[in-house]
Amino acid sequence: MQPFTLEQGRGITDTIARGRAPGADYIAGGTDLMQLLKDDVRRPSALIDLEGLDLGGILVTAQGLRLGAMARMGEVADHPAVLRDYPVISEALLASAAPQIRNLGTIGGNLLQRTRCTYFRDTASPCNKRAPGTGCAAIEGNHRTHAIFGGSRHCIATHASDLAVALAALDATVHLHGPNGERDLKVTELHLVPSDHPDIETMLHPGELILAVTVPAGAWTRRSHYLKVRDRASFEFALTSAAVALDIQGGTIRAARVAAGGVGTKPWRLPAVEQALVGAPATADTWARAGQLSTAEASPLTENRFKVRLLQNTVACALEQAGGQT
Ligand code: SF4
Repeated sequence: MQPFTLEQGRGITDTIARGRAPGADYIAGGTDLMQLLKDDVRRPSALIDLEGLDLGGILVTAQGLRLGAMARMGEVADHPAVLRDYPVISEALLASAAPQIRNLGTIGGNLLQRTRCTYFRDTASPCNKRAPGTGCAAIEGNHRTHAIFGGSRHCIATHASDLAVALAALDATVHLHGPNGERDLKVTELHLVPSDHPDIETMLHPGELILAVTVPAGAWTRRSHYLKVRDRASFEFALTSAAVALDIQGGTIRAARVAAGGVGTKPWRLPAVEQALVGAPATADTWARAGQLSTAEASPLTENRFKVRLLQNTVACALEQAGGQT
């Protein structure tokens, strides 16, 4: 591990000034970052601790839900109003990590966690994301867990956050603060597909911080569900996952939100599936057809071809579990 200084800013402006300096990195819960430091994958010269900033809190209003960037995963997952009105968020967080990690990990940090591609975390392997221009070991190597949406010839790594999939489905917004002031982005706009630059993963500017995430209220949020399929029942990342939210009235689907995880180089919203669901009856046939449609644009490689069928079933089951609550 490379030596670094640990700093704390005096307020948000000073923190951002320190965070935009070359070699600086922010640290919140540190649950992902500490392992990356130990593995020499990230080598910052300074860590800027966000713990002293007033960025926590969970607020529920008639307009929606506001989660502070430093709110802990565990407190959000267990919050009564989140459990009642936004179950897909709670379920995504509970499926993400063990209680010890949920007690430390933050909402902002979870959205910005790095890929679990084993080659990215092994400094002896070529990896365009960690070391631009060195190649991608996964494309010709072991890519069983890698993406079937959004990959390029330079990178096929999946985004690891379950929470980001749920937030993408619910049209959430991230509120940012950077050297040039505040701005907002949709969660679906925050992460980038790898294209020619897998090392550039988000729309964040140097030094820019996530302040909070807001989720608009909607008739579909209560009837929502997160389903995660993985190689073992806990402490594991998604092979496939689906976040769904439905508004059903009189047996007909009035609105639908669907996003997939474990399959995309970023949280993968499925608008064609949503459009096909609206106006359809809430029946087993509808869920099965939506599942089939979910992989219409998939581009699997040899070892991850099984994810096509698996995602179809994951989407259909998630919809059935949410839609079956009438
Ligand atoms: Fe690196 Fe992406 Fe290739 Fe994995 S898939 S080795 S993260 S370039």
